[in-house]
Amino acid sequence: MSTGPPGVEIDTPYAMSSQMPLVLHRGSCHCLAVRFEVQAPAVLNVIDCNCSICAIKSNLHFIVPKARFKLLQGEEMLTCYRFNSMQAQHLFCKVCGVQSFYIPRSNPDGYGVNPRCLDPSTIDKIVVEHFDGQNWEREFDQKRQALAERSADSSSSSRPTSTSERSGD
Ligand SMILES: [Zn+2]
Repeated sequence: MSTGPPGVEIDTPYAMSSQMPLVLHRGSCHCLAVRFEVQAPAVLNVIDCNCSICAIKSNLHFIVPKARFKLLQGEEMLTCYRFNSMQAQHLFCKVCGVQSFYIPRSNPDGYGVNPRCLDPSTIDKIVVEHFDGQNWEREFDQKRQALAERSADSSSSSRPTSTSERSGD
């Protein structure tokens, strides 16, 4: 960790990141078989979840709409693990085992991207939010709207992002 991660803030409440300009981040798994690019703010609001699988993997992820993610190579190297509700698609590289991105249960229309798999040169700061995945349903009910906005693809239209806008769920 000689270069060190960008500054990390702990326990910052859910922040609005939707108005921030997007930058192009590049990322990969450890062995570089899987490579991708993702459009997201330079300040990444990442979720630290304590559900059974996130805890065991020390998983951090930020959520983007699928349209802002592009797999550049390695689709054939990805394998998928599912459990319990079978909704999340826990994708990982079958060579090195690293989960650089996946499809989370909370946002099936988006991707959860591991900020540790990105080239750090495009990251200004990582802001960590906690998600109580040990009580997933209750936590999701409380944060449903904030989470839904993260994978809502507003880039294809000119309408402004509104906090009063409900996604038909
Ligand atoms: Zn790999």
